[in-house]
Amino acid sequence: MATNRTFAMLKPDSVEKGYVGAILDKINATGFRIVALKMTHLTMADAKEFYDIHKERPFFEELVKYMTRGPIIAVILEKENAVEDFRALIGATNPVDAADGTIRKLFAASVSENAVHGSDSDENAAIESTFHFSGREMF
Ligand code: UDP
Ligand code: MG
Repeated sequence: MATNRTFAMLKPDSVEKGYVGAILDKINATGFRIVALKMTHLTMADAKEFYDIHKERPFFEELVKYMTRGPIIAVILEKENAVEDFRALIGATNPVDAADGTIRKLFAASVSENAVHGSDSDENAAIESTFHFSGREMF
């Protein structure tokens, strides 16, 4: 059965450019409830583990460097059909291909610096949520 939670990150470029408030506004306006939220700075080991699935890809080193260059905002979000609806809200990986009004269309600079992360399955949402948050940090 599908769960109703997903995991998201506002990536270092969003924090650097001051987009955190505007992105959280869009998330709220789309009907997601914030279950957990923190500002944190990933270590190299954290980023490598989080993106382990991409370790053979040519962009892996650049991705780890980007994701560790400054703090991120990690969140757990709740809504019916959360994983799919959040992927729809953020848009395609490459902002050039992202639909109008999506977070990546509005705030992403490129396919690598693309403003936000959203889990791609219920299973990964659960793994990624517990990677970042303890049970005491989820409300
Ligand atoms: N990425 C990149 N170059 C690419 C594809 C992806 O730098 O050609 C980065 C980008 O930051 C992306 C992340 O790697 O968000 C993870 O890639 P994935 O294919 O899982 O995209 P997502 O699920 O984030 O849309
Ligand atoms: Mg992905």
